[in-house]
Amino acid sequence: MEAPLLFDLARPKPTTRDIANAVKAGGTEALTEAERRADRALYQEVTCRSALNRVEGMPFNWTLNPYRGCTHGCHYCFARRYHVQFEMNSDDEFASVILVKQNFVDVLARELDRPAWTRELVAFGTATDPYQPIEGRYQLTRRAIEVLARARTPIGLITKGPMVVRDIDVLRDLTRAADCTVHMSVPTVDDEAWRILEPGTAHPLQRLRAVRELVDAGINAGVLMAPIVPGFSSSRTKLERTVKAIADHGAAFVGCNVMYLQDGTRDHFMRFIERDFPAMKPRFERLYTRKYPPDAYRKEIQGMVRVLQARYGLAKRARDEDEKSRVPEIGEPEQVGFAW
Ligand code: SF4
Repeated sequence: MEAPLLFDLARPKPTTRDIANAVKAGGTEALTEAERRADRALYQEVTCRSALNRVEGMPFNWTLNPYRGCTHGCHYCFARRYHVQFEMNSDDEFASVILVKQNFVDVLARELDRPAWTRELVAFGTATDPYQPIEGRYQLTRRAIEVLARARTPIGLITKGPMVVRDIDVLRDLTRAADCTVHMSVPTVDDEAWRILEPGTAHPLQRLRAVRELVDAGINAGVLMAPIVPGFSSSRTKLERTVKAIADHGAAFVGCNVMYLQDGTRDHFMRFIERDFPAMKPRFERLYTRKYPPDAYRKEIQGMVRVLQARYGLAKRARDEDEKSRVPEIGEPEQVGFAW
């Protein structure tokens, strides 16, 4: 008889490629080791080969994403299209099948330890929200920030998760060791637009309160009003209420951009509009013949936001942020008369 093992040798977790192959063959039902949690989402642990991801054509060269998929489920999310890489759809599966890179922190620590690493800026949370609810359990984001602080590597982190205030201590350590900017995404404070477009997120005012806490703690934290979605959050009144709320909460900077639609994100968004707001579909089709709406429309929205930023004392903060992120100048706003 074989001697029993003194301890169980855990089987290695599948790679993202293994997951893509399994889903291709048998759909998400093939993920038999994934855990379904109380939020009804399915969480699949995976092994990653690398943590730092090299990118081109962006104001930064490196990105970090400890999870793939996002239970916040924003309908406009540009990361929806990446889920297709794992043979999953950009609709429900993006928001309900989440890949958790369980060895992420160890891999990152090794990469940052390499003599060739030059401590370039890393964009954290470009394809998922690093503070979506599952972060409360795995703490991959928190532990990654600790490792980044030890390696004196600066980051710009983007999130919609007020959970970020849990990590004020390690964000401060990173601020002291290198540089750290938190971009809180708050496209609008309008309740209806929030409920419709960002079904799994915290209320926008809760996010702004988190910004206030971060700023009070000495962390460089501001707001991205992005994306502004035509017809939902683009009216003058909604823009003004949002800019005023951002100013009232002491954001260190503010930026904005209009929604863009590409590949799977476009497919999902148009299906969502067709299903829930069919009367709006022809207007979106006219406005989005390309990834972005026409320049004139974007400039008008951005110009409007600039006017409001100046009115509420945010103009300087907006300019500083533009310089840092190399956002091109768009000229002075001329009028605010767009209809949608
Ligand atoms: S929170 Fe960010 S990553 Fe998550 S669904 Fe919304 S836009 Fe996408």
